[in-house]
Amino acid sequence: MRVTKKCAYCGIEFITNKSTKRFCCRSHFKKDYDRRQVLKKREERLHPHYAKKTCEFCRRESEIPFDIVKHPEKFNNWQCPYCWADMNTIFQHRNSPNSHEQVFCAVLEMRIGNSGTTLTQVFHVTTTNPGQ
Ligand SMILES: [Zn+2]
Ligand SMILES: [Zn+2]
Repeated sequence: MRVTKKCAYCGIEFITNKSTKRFCCRSHFKKDYDRRQVLKKREERLHPHYAKKTCEFCRRESEIPFDIVKHPEKFNNWQCPYCWADMNTIFQHRNSPNSHEQVFCAVLEMRIGNSGTTLTQVFHVTTTNPGQ
């Protein structure tokens, strides 16, 4: 079966017997591919996908909202959005035998220290992280 199709790159009509064919020639297939790669790169620059990190405290994965390669100094202060533990605190306590408890206390202290944190919110953290 022969069908007339329009090339997706140049718009010229061509006759083919394959209904899946979208280009008049191989070179336009390649040019369209290159063009889409450029668009894809531009899209990635506008909407970058940042690295994902599994929190060492609550083991939940979240996207880090900045570029770690460009701002490595920010990473230590990054807080897990689930348990609010920051990487600095986790790192400080990671080698101690009861690190989970120590990080938990440090996070609680920090949260109580920040005005506006209520005890009910703190209690919520306790229930989602029942310890070891
Ligand atoms: Zn073409
Ligand atoms: Zn966490």
